[in-house]
Amino acid sequence: MPDLLIRNGLIIDGTGNPGYYATVAVDGDTMRILRGDTSDLESGRVIDATGHVVCPGFVDLHSHGGLTMLREPLNEPKIRQGVTTELIGIDGNSAAPFKNRDDLEAFVELDSGLNDIMPVGRDWRSVDDFLSLFEKTVSPNIAFILGNSAVRIWSVGWNDRPATGAQMEDMKSVVREAMEEGSFGLSTGLDYPPGSYADTNELIELSKVAAEKGGFYHTHTRHSLMMNGHLAPFEEAVEIGRGSGAPVHLTHYRQPDQGVGSHLDYLGLVEKSRDEGLDVTFDVYTYRFGGTRVLIQLPNWTKDGGPERVKEVLRSQEERKRAKEDMLSGTRKLNTDETWLTAFRKPHNAQYDGLSVAEIARKRDQDPFDALFDLLLDENLGISAVLGGTNAQTLPAFVSHPYGMIASDAILFGEFPSPRTYGCFPVVLAEFVRAEKHLRLPEAIRKMTSFPAQRLGLRDRGVLRDGAKADIVVFDPDRVKAPTTHRQPKQFAQGIPYVIVNGQVVVDNDVLTKATPGVVLRHGR
Ligand SMILES: [Zn+2]
Repeated sequence: MPDLLIRNGLIIDGTGNPGYYATVAVDGDTMRILRGDTSDLESGRVIDATGHVVCPGFVDLHSHGGLTMLREPLNEPKIRQGVTTELIGIDGNSAAPFKNRDDLEAFVELDSGLNDIMPVGRDWRSVDDFLSLFEKTVSPNIAFILGNSAVRIWSVGWNDRPATGAQMEDMKSVVREAMEEGSFGLSTGLDYPPGSYADTNELIELSKVAAEKGGFYHTHTRHSLMMNGHLAPFEEAVEIGRGSGAPVHLTHYRQPDQGVGSHLDYLGLVEKSRDEGLDVTFDVYTYRFGGTRVLIQLPNWTKDGGPERVKEVLRSQEERKRAKEDMLSGTRKLNTDETWLTAFRKPHNAQYDGLSVAEIARKRDQDPFDALFDLLLDENLGISAVLGGTNAQTLPAFVSHPYGMIASDAILFGEFPSPRTYGCFPVVLAEFVRAEKHLRLPEAIRKMTSFPAQRLGLRDRGVLRDGAKADIVVFDPDRVKAPTTHRQPKQFAQGIPYVIVNGQVVVDNDVLTKATPGVVLRHGR
């Protein structure tokens, strides 16, 4: 007798094929599809999915939820969207491995506006130690990708300098070991020091090791290359794939702004690379608003040495002046009106949460740069920023392109995150599919399920078929909705009454069960 039957739903299996009617039977953590009359079949529990779609759980290839989940294991903003697997370690910023506690703490501090502060009472060094913290302790499944910032801190340190031959060999062994411990590949975030201090050749050499072990190269590309043309950052990524043999995944791929080329240039680069025989894919988030640690806006030289160096700069009037000058020019100018700050942790700064740098400066009667620098010092660097930087007019072309997946880049702390944190996946179903018809429903589901699962190399997730793991979403295609907005972001998805992870119901008729059935998925196992 199965533990659970899901009856009367339209099964859209994740492959992109149209739906069909059948019953899904869940036994333990595994599913079977039953066709024909199953009315005589008994089971522990029945979910009636009449009028609903039954599809695989969503696989998010850009998650910043790792450390936050160690504090908030239910991952509610994401689970309520139907996300059942989270890939953590993105943008070069993986929280493992570290040689010692000092490096780990310094890294987490530098990165705390993006990936949260150290969880109280936790400790780890290796990838394996870190991953074991998530085994059946959180609601979604966790997959990990090794970040090259951690690799560089391990072998080269915090400074902007080329790796020596011995350091290169050492970094390769760090990558090899992480792959053996279950990493799905190598990630970079080439606007985030110290990983951004790696040159193209270093990244080719490290990606070769990941590729030999079946891993892929997941990249937030090097924005500073924009001075060589709007495609130059992405051309570097393709070059790394060509040189290393690693599949290349361009993350949060989009046209950054009106007039920065045409969206056809960006999509054409991916198509051309694939025509050449390279395995290049991309993901995109589905709102105009991005978000990251606000430190990204400070010039790279301010971080040459780690978080202590940043604070030294912020305490020096002379170096502040130099930083400000750099932030008024170059490829990454600070837009004080369109940089909204969040994730203040000191109660006396709560008044600034959600306001733009310009608004905060007016409130404090201060120069915007000084306001930002003072707050960064007061908050121990851990401020998040919500930013523009996506051309909303061309976003549908990325969301509906066959080589693209949906991934959230969601930051889960702060009172005013980007709306993508609460709405990235359901807004596709509600707006891009149902209302605007940019793509068909089975295709949209493919981009959230089997396609990311294929990128990772998962054997038994991302599709509904006999023997697959029972990660399942039941949603109402007419009612599913993402009410989140830029000004009122913390609003849960609607119209997704059931979410199941490894056969256990985690959202039950719209109620969170607080179950934590998530397992750690290890590459190659
Ligand atoms: Zn990110």
